[in-house]
Amino acid sequence: MSGEAGEFRIAVIGAGVVGLAVAERLSKLYRGIVFLEKNDSFGQETSSRNSEVIHGGIYYPPGSLKATLCREGNLLLVYPVPSEGRVGLGIHATIDLAGRVRFGPDVEYVDRIDYAVDEGKGVFFREAVRSYLPSIVHAALEPDQCGIRPKLQGPGEPFRDFVIREESDSGLPGLINLIGIESPGLTASPALAEHVASLVEACL
Ligand SMILES: Cc1cc2nc3c(=O)[nH]c(=O)nc-3n(C[C@H](O)[C@H](O)[C@H](O)COP(=O)(O)OP(=O)(O)OC[C@H]3O[C@@H](n4cnc5c(N)ncnc54)[C@H](O)[C@@H]3O)c2cc1C
Repeated sequence: MSGEAGEFRIAVIGAGVVGLAVAERLSKLYRGIVFLEKNDSFGQETSSRNSEVIHGGIYYPPGSLKATLCREGNLLLVYPVPSEGRVGLGIHATIDLAGRVRFGPDVEYVDRIDYAVDEGKGVFFREAVRSYLPSIVHAALEPDQCGIRPKLQGPGEPFRDFVIREESDSGLPGLINLIGIESPGLTASPALAEHVASLVEACL
């Protein structure tokens, strides 16, 4: 294919952490890779709104892609025991890259993408944090950020894994879709890239 970007063999759509990891991996194997990104710059969506935790993968069903692709790392966090039927891991504490202590995230289903923070949730957050940090006072907490998880699992539904597939069966050979790359997508991104590289190799 050719155009303003010149000739290319592979297009990576979406410059979040997963697309960047995939492009980095593929660039070691192939020439002629382009990025297609709807925003002006990389990392403007989910990847810049997460907890920065390198997950150990222990919360995901053994053998699932989420567990398998999740690399071991340092867990700079305190996790509460997850509740039955949970859709997230609970409001936990992490030390972010700037050295701040961050609490969150809570989880609620939304039907549109809006990154505005609901400051009315402060009381709920304080009560959740108090279960493992009883001395916390409301004034010590300030609103931070909101992220949107691309979840496949609807309210009350059982665990759903990452979906990674080459779309020949749908009449689109060479298209590799990555769907539902929610947590632990940041941790899993190098392994996701490796997985995609093996699918690309089979296509070319
Ligand atoms: C609150 C929260 C906390 C999290 N905490 C953790 C954590 O602690 N540890 C962890 O491992 N994971 C965590 N995650 C999950 C992790 O952040 C995501 O799995 C990961 O960032 C997904 O990366 P991505 O590249 O797939 O998506 P994104 O970063 O959203 O990138 C997708 C890109 O595609 C672009 N795009 C979309 N549509 C188009 C289009 N039609 N054309 C061109 N470009 C397009 C978007 O603009 C965007 O740049 C968390 C997620 C959330 C929301």
